Amino acid sequence: MKQLHELKGVGPKTLTALNNIGIYNVNDLVSYYPFRYNFIKLSNKSEYLDQEVITIQGVVETFASLYRINNRLDKISFRINSNDNIFNVIIFNRGFLKNNLKPGTKVTLIGKFEKLKNTVIVNDIKFYYIDDKEIIEPVYHSSSSISSLSIHKIINKIDFNDLEVFSLPNEIVTKYNFIEKKDALESIHLPKEKEKLDLALKRLKYEEAFTFFMKLKKLKEERQIYKGIKREVTKSHVEGFINDLPFKLTSDQSIAVSTILERLNDDKQMNVLLQGDVGSGKTIVAVIASYINYLSGYQTAFMVPTDVLAQQHYEKLKKYFEKINIKVALLTGKMKLKDKKKVHEQIKNKEVDLIIGTHALISESVVYNNLGLVITDEQHRFGVNQRGILKEKGSTPDVLYMSATPIPRTYALTLYNDMEVISIKTKPLGRKKIKTILKNSDEIKDVLTIMYDQLKQNHQIYVIAPLIEESEKIDLTNIKDLETKLNRAFGKLYKIGIMHGKMKEDDKNKIMTSFKENKINILISTTVVEVGVDIPNATVMVIFDSFRFGLSTLHQLRGRIGRSSLDSYCILISDMEKERLNILKNTDDGFEISEADFTLRGSGDLFGVRQSGEVFFKLIDIHKDYNLLETVKKDIELL
Ligand code: ADP
Ligand code: MG
Repeated sequence: MKQLHELKGVGPKTLTALNNIGIYNVNDLVSYYPFRYNFIKLSNKSEYLDQEVITIQGVVETFASLYRINNRLDKISFRINSNDNIFNVIIFNRGFLKNNLKPGTKVTLIGKFEKLKNTVIVNDIKFYYIDDKEIIEPVYHSSSSISSLSIHKIINKIDFNDLEVFSLPNEIVTKYNFIEKKDALESIHLPKEKEKLDLALKRLKYEEAFTFFMKLKKLKEERQIYKGIKREVTKSHVEGFINDLPFKLTSDQSIAVSTILERLNDDKQMNVLLQGDVGSGKTIVAVIASYINYLSGYQTAFMVPTDVLAQQHYEKLKKYFEKINIKVALLTGKMKLKDKKKVHEQIKNKEVDLIIGTHALISESVVYNNLGLVITDEQHRFGVNQRGILKEKGSTPDVLYMSATPIPRTYALTLYNDMEVISIKTKPLGRKKIKTILKNSDEIKDVLTIMYDQLKQNHQIYVIAPLIEESEKIDLTNIKDLETKLNRAFGKLYKIGIMHGKMKEDDKNKIMTSFKENKINILISTTVVEVGVDIPNATVMVIFDSFRFGLSTLHQLRGRIGRSSLDSYCILISDMEKERLNILKNTDDGFEISEADFTLRGSGDLFGVRQSGEVFFKLIDIHKDYNLLETVKKDIELL
């Protein structure tokens, strides 16, 4: 099989761009599936409707003229003759096309039709006729350094016969009459017809589920082979600690603690997933579990997804354990080598009992001394591939996963098939309700009024938008534009910061820290705002074009505020899908919300907040393909 850099068109720059989206070899590349397809077919005349997207082909009639609108925007205009119909054509921000558009050039155009002006505003242009064929164009997730089209072109260079691929057992292939794996891969990337694409999807989806459940099965079996740790901690041992907490545990928390105590005590390896909304009080349950583990003489490793979260947890947990002299250490990849080495020493010599950190906790140079419990926060970031890793650091430490994305029970049982799921549904009492407000985009004045009112009280604000910068393809709010506008409104008095997924990790951390220290009053961001980040002084969450997001994502974002006794406001701005968004107005129960999400949109957006996170599946939609998941599970049992 070829190496990535041996493919035509993959130079050093492209290679880096590919690495940055997680593609290191040809196998990664072929399993980088398109996330959707454009089906391109010429529109009938009856479909030439005002404001609709239409597809036409024709001959360029006039030389194209290029206009510069400002330093960020240009426009080309020309006319085409399509079957003796003349159309005006406008293309924004692709001035470089001007010289390709000479009279006589054959083009196919896809774009919005403005009937009154008889004009097509082009989204996409092809320099050939498609005639009566249907063209299926794959669309890949792209980055600032590599476009969907470039990815498509590179994949075109792959010799699919040269691949070494995992294949399903023969019985299964025969049973379902699946097409060959190589054919399936070729068709999913370079589909020629819809039927073939469907067959490809059918096979690859099955295979995705199959691989997933096989991994879970393996994890489960391993757990049965190794004996876990037996402990002898009783309720009365932990009662004092629990009574000393500044609050009384909710009943769900108490149940979680009892269950975990039982699992830690028995000699089987514990494997529990604790799920509950942000703020439902999972952390304290983890704290108590660490305490139980400490009482029986073992170390605890507490892994979180980012440096910011690690730092935050470290400070919090240190306070809980100060009085009783449990030693807590922080270990992140960012720390100076000298400091890291020191912590490594302390871990090895058992001078620390609880270590909080990022992925650095599983680096090879960390040698634990009697690791008894591994806790991972925001479990979804540690997908099934990573579930097994950290536990190898101890003999067979018990494992507690925590997730702030509540999933309805049936789905949880499928996805976490290898674990015991404990849910915290009730929230601690005395929490202020967040006021959720729906606004149209033309009611922005009201929104600014609420914002100003809160800023005057020295409270902070999150503002979220779906796009980073202007796009000629979709008309949605972008954060660059918001920055300009909000600076006009508040810039004189207040400091505004921006953050998005294309920024370096370091820069994101800096912005987040400034916001935390109240050096930034308004943080404008895409949905990358850290899950779990705790800034009690932030009281307003404004989300532009809210209809673009799944309910669970919106609910997660809303969870960033309402973290103190202050009144908080979540303002959803949208001109569409009011009914769906209303669900958020009426409930703040994450389980209910995720159930609604599943029913309305499928699972596709469930993990939308965590663009960087490892999602469960690439092709499968947990909701829509639930039956497939069940079928595959049964097939595996039969094998
Ligand atoms: P999670 O980890 O589920 O997002 P946390 O454990 O961080 O939630 O809890 C959120 C806040 O609620 C924390 O400030 C915590 O101290 C507080 N808290 C947790 N449990 C209770 C409780 N039973 N009563 C009152 N406050 C609580
Ligand atoms: Mg938490």
